[in-house]
Amino acid sequence: MERVRGMPRNDWSKLKARLARTDFRRGKLLVGLDFDGVLSEITPHPADAALSPRTAQLLKALRGRSDTRLAIISGRGIGDLRRLVGLHGIFYSGNHGLQIRGPGLRWMHPEANEVDRAVWRGLEEGLKDIPGAIVEHKILGAAIHYRQVRPEHRRRLSGLVRAHHRSLSGRFRILPGKKIFDLRPALAWDKGRALDMIRQRLEPRFAWNAVFVGDDKTDEEAFLTLAGTALTVRVGRVSRSAAQYVIPGRSWVDHLLEELVRRPGAS
Ligand SMILES: [Mg+2]
Repeated sequence: MERVRGMPRNDWSKLKARLARTDFRRGKLLVGLDFDGVLSEITPHPADAALSPRTAQLLKALRGRSDTRLAIISGRGIGDLRRLVGLHGIFYSGNHGLQIRGPGLRWMHPEANEVDRAVWRGLEEGLKDIPGAIVEHKILGAAIHYRQVRPEHRRRLSGLVRAHHRSLSGRFRILPGKKIFDLRPALAWDKGRALDMIRQRLEPRFAWNAVFVGDDKTDEEAFLTLAGTALTVRVGRVSRSAAQYVIPGRSWVDHLLEELVRRPGAS
C-alpha cells in the first residue's frame, strides 16, 4: 500500500455516520478484530504486545452484550492470542484464520497440516548470524520477525527467507507484514473467510452484521473477501485500501469500539 506524505486519510466521520444507521445501531453484530496493530501497538518483541487497559475494558463491555459476538483473528497462534487477550466466551482464530476456537466451534482448515519444525531448520541456520532475527514456530507455519534486525541486515534476511520459501516448492505462501514474514500453508483462505465461517455458525442464522478491522497488507485479502458482506476498516497511514474505511491510527480503534459498545441495540 502507498504510504502517505502529509495528512493521512481519515474516514472516521464517514465511518461514524455509517455506524449510526439503523441496521448497525439495532442489529446483531459480529466484530472481527486483528490483534497486532489493531488491538495492540506493534512492539519491538512480539511477546511484549499487550492490550491497553482501555482497550481491554472495551472488549469486555462488547463481550457482555447479548447482541454482539467478538472474534480475534490474527496471524498468531490461538494459544498466544488467548494469553494476550485473556477473555473467555469469544472466538479466537489463529494462523490467519486457518484455526478457529470459540463457543460451540472448534475448527481447523481440513487441508492444513501441522508442520514439522524440521522444515525451518535450514532457514534457522542461515538466520543465526543475523542479530535480532526471531523464528516463531507455529503449528501451521512459521513467522520470521525482524523488528529488532538492523536495517543493513534486512536485505540478507529477506533473501534467506525467500530462498528457503522457494526450496519448499509451493507448499507455503510468504505474507510480508509489519517487520514480519509469515510463512503459511498455500491454501485459498484468509481472515475474511474465517469471519464468514464464524458468522454462519451463529444463531439465529443470517441475522448478523459483521465488522472487520485489520491493519496490515495481509488483511487486504480479507477486505476483498468481505466486500459487500461486512463493514471493513483498515488501520494505518495509507491512502489506498480494499477496506471501505481507513482510520489513521490505533487510537481510532478504541473510538470505534466505544461506538459499538454504546450503540442502543438489543440489550
Ligand atoms: Mg495486524
